[in-house]
Amino acid sequence: MQFHDPEKFQRAILDWFSLYGRKELPWQNPITPYRVWISEIMLQQTQVTTVIPYFQKFIKRFPDIKTLAEAPEDDVLAHWAGLGYYTRARNLHKAAKIMFKEYQGEMPNDLDSIVSLPGIGRSTAAAILSIAFKKPAAILDGNVKRVLARVQAIEGWPGNSKVHDALWVVAEHYKPNHSTAEYTQAMMDIGATVCTRTKPLCEHCPVQPFCQAYMQGNPQNYPGKKPKKALPVKQSYLLVLKNSLHQVLLYKRNDIKLWGGLWSLPEYESSLEKNLLQNFVKQHWQSELTDYTTSLSFRHTFSHFHWDITPVICEVKLVELCEESTAIQWIQLNQIDGLGIPAPIRKILLNMKAAL
Ligand code: SF4
Repeated sequence: MQFHDPEKFQRAILDWFSLYGRKELPWQNPITPYRVWISEIMLQQTQVTTVIPYFQKFIKRFPDIKTLAEAPEDDVLAHWAGLGYYTRARNLHKAAKIMFKEYQGEMPNDLDSIVSLPGIGRSTAAAILSIAFKKPAAILDGNVKRVLARVQAIEGWPGNSKVHDALWVVAEHYKPNHSTAEYTQAMMDIGATVCTRTKPLCEHCPVQPFCQAYMQGNPQNYPGKKPKKALPVKQSYLLVLKNSLHQVLLYKRNDIKLWGGLWSLPEYESSLEKNLLQNFVKQHWQSELTDYTTSLSFRHTFSHFHWDITPVICEVKLVELCEESTAIQWIQLNQIDGLGIPAPIRKILLNMKAAL
């Protein structure tokens, strides 16, 4: 691989940043390790415009590591609901507890300690180090991978370990020892706003003189695409058990792989024949199903499968739930706002609320 002079590369990036870089993002004012950390986790697989209102709400409720560490998990998940990839929120919570206990409520300031915290990978740790602690550290988030793959014309999908390793070598080569915060932010900004996936604005790009993909005239060929694999499709009903008090039955999922710790609706995969559904309701909640209707089906896509969901609104007789059970509750539709509920479930409940 032929590299350019890192100082020239950095100069071009930093000059561009002083003119066009983003400096008014909520997590940049003020910049603290905690705020950088929260924003970096939120920004994984999520666009800046989506993240901004979530970040503001989250920081208002959990202004520091201590507040986050001491908060109930439900509360943390409720402030994350809608952002998806909930493992991120659970890991934030776990990491805050560790920092509160082992680091006097402060973010550690060396790469190894930061990476050892739950949910923080090498690139996120480097972003915290370079932006908040002003230490030299190379980042390689999704956008930066695209820029560097184009600059060096690195072929192949970055999920492949050889390609990934090659991109790290490039990131380390161009990493500066000064102006680390500006350089890191600039690389993120160039990836997000200039070197975009489908229509890179090469004429406005500070690294154009260094970019091999530009010289070849085919930036869109880099990085290589993920090999296609058809996602499996799961189909099931979600039961909205509704009683005469307009309460719905929600339960807290304990499946850590999918929506763990979030409030959801019971799944039903059998036939919708009335006697079968009645038996199911009776068996699980000792309640009587009086009527039911199906709502429009919709698809929710996860990274590893499509889920075709058909909500079934079930009118049931009010039953007392076991008092000790906190994982299953009757909830008023107008009280769902403060709960950690995944977006598709919230959509079903809000439709129901609108129809009342
Ligand atoms: Fe991306 Fe074009 Fe800049 Fe190369 S010149 S880094 S392809 S925007």
